[in-house]
Amino acid sequence: MNILLNQPPTADIQALDAAHHMHPFTANAELAAKGARVITRARGVWLTDSDGNRILDGMAGLWCVNIGYGREELAEVAARQMRELPYYNTFFQTTHVPAAALAARLAELAPGDLNHVFFASGGSEANDTNIRLVRLYWALKGKPEKTVIISRRNAYHGSTVGAASLGGMAPMHAQGGLPIPGVVHIGQPDWWSEGGDMTPDEFGRARARELEEKIAELGEDRVAAFIAEPVQGAGGVIIPPESYWPEIQRICDAHDILLIADEVITGFGRTGNWFGSQTFGIRPDIMTVAKGLSSGYAPIGGSIVSDEVAEVIGQAEFVHGYTYSGHPVAAAVALENLRIMEEEGIVEHVREVAGPHLARRWAELAEHPLVGEAKSVGLMASVALTPDKASRAPFAAEKGTVGYICREISFAEGLVMRHVGDRMIIAPPLVITPDEIDTLVERAWRVFDLTLAKITAEGLMRAA
Ligand SMILES: *Cc1c(COP(=O)(O)O)cnc(C)c1O
Repeated sequence: MNILLNQPPTADIQALDAAHHMHPFTANAELAAKGARVITRARGVWLTDSDGNRILDGMAGLWCVNIGYGREELAEVAARQMRELPYYNTFFQTTHVPAAALAARLAELAPGDLNHVFFASGGSEANDTNIRLVRLYWALKGKPEKTVIISRRNAYHGSTVGAASLGGMAPMHAQGGLPIPGVVHIGQPDWWSEGGDMTPDEFGRARARELEEKIAELGEDRVAAFIAEPVQGAGGVIIPPESYWPEIQRICDAHDILLIADEVITGFGRTGNWFGSQTFGIRPDIMTVAKGLSSGYAPIGGSIVSDEVAEVIGQAEFVHGYTYSGHPVAAAVALENLRIMEEEGIVEHVREVAGPHLARRWAELAEHPLVGEAKSVGLMASVALTPDKASRAPFAAEKGTVGYICREISFAEGLVMRHVGDRMIIAPPLVITPDEIDTLVERAWRVFDLTLAKITAEGLMRAA
């Protein structure tokens, strides 16, 4: 019997899962005792679980299902490509139509002179590629000491050893002796938590200048690159003050440092332009892409690099590559995804319809007694939960206690929101309609009501 075609009872699936499946970013013993939620199908912005509950997916899976669930065209293209050429590599002076066509399409879409693509299976692999790329670039330019990459605390760049080192997640660094040598971190532009008495603009400039201070400390001749997400995603949807990015761009230009924009979340329409770099006026030398590139229908990512970087790298053999670099099925799916996004004006929908509607409705949440700031850009948004709006105080309870309670209530109320510490975040599929945004915000308000009632009863509504 084919288990995929004959869905067993929920408890049976949970038992198989608990016995054999190790989940990412999960305390597995605790989950095994409780039983994982089983998602069985999805259409548009709606998930269905194995008990038939419908849940509004406020996170587009893991920030990736930009085009929404259930697009037949993508299934068709994948099946056709699997029949025609399911796999071939791009190592030994060979190529195939999907990889060549997707690279050309990305060169067309990416801003400025970002015209060359090195493919990977996801964002982590692409950022590992970037570490090697920028070091080889400087070596080939006769500056082999330029190896250090500067990143930011609370950044997320993936989960491989290299990418997690680039990231600034303290709990990840605590396991397995990260970061690797040659990666250093400066502060993040999170005004709500760390801005103190400064205005957001003063704080944005101050945090950008930490980059200049770090370059001075290390010596310009040792620094290869700065990497950052235009908007930190997994760090809690931290939208930087307006003063931040212009100052970062100035510093990278002034000190001959490559700028890597990690667009894994902000790419492909999320902020109302094809890339977050366009929304924030950034001119990167390298862009990391993944997630929305295929709307999550197939695993694919890559590094899109400038003419200049590609020309320098091209002088040597770049001794690097993945079996699935430019995988034909994934590349074909990505191409079809980009075709649909363009034909249906999905980026314009985010910029002109859904983004502005979410901005209006999401801002209303700031009036809820549990919510401090409520901010959005395009279709990514966050709120800071707080026991005291005026002082922006954190909770007395361990960070994330209230956020976790809120997330569990949210799931039970039919809305996927994620918590990062005590921030609640959303990034729904880009095809979400204004009516569905209204449903999302109404559910979020009710979730905050229920959370406030619960934490008040448990004595958790107290400032640190
Ligand atoms: C998800 C993510 C990654 C890692 O991508 P994977 O496909 O999970 O390897 C890298 N950077 C950012 C900004 C991400 O959000």
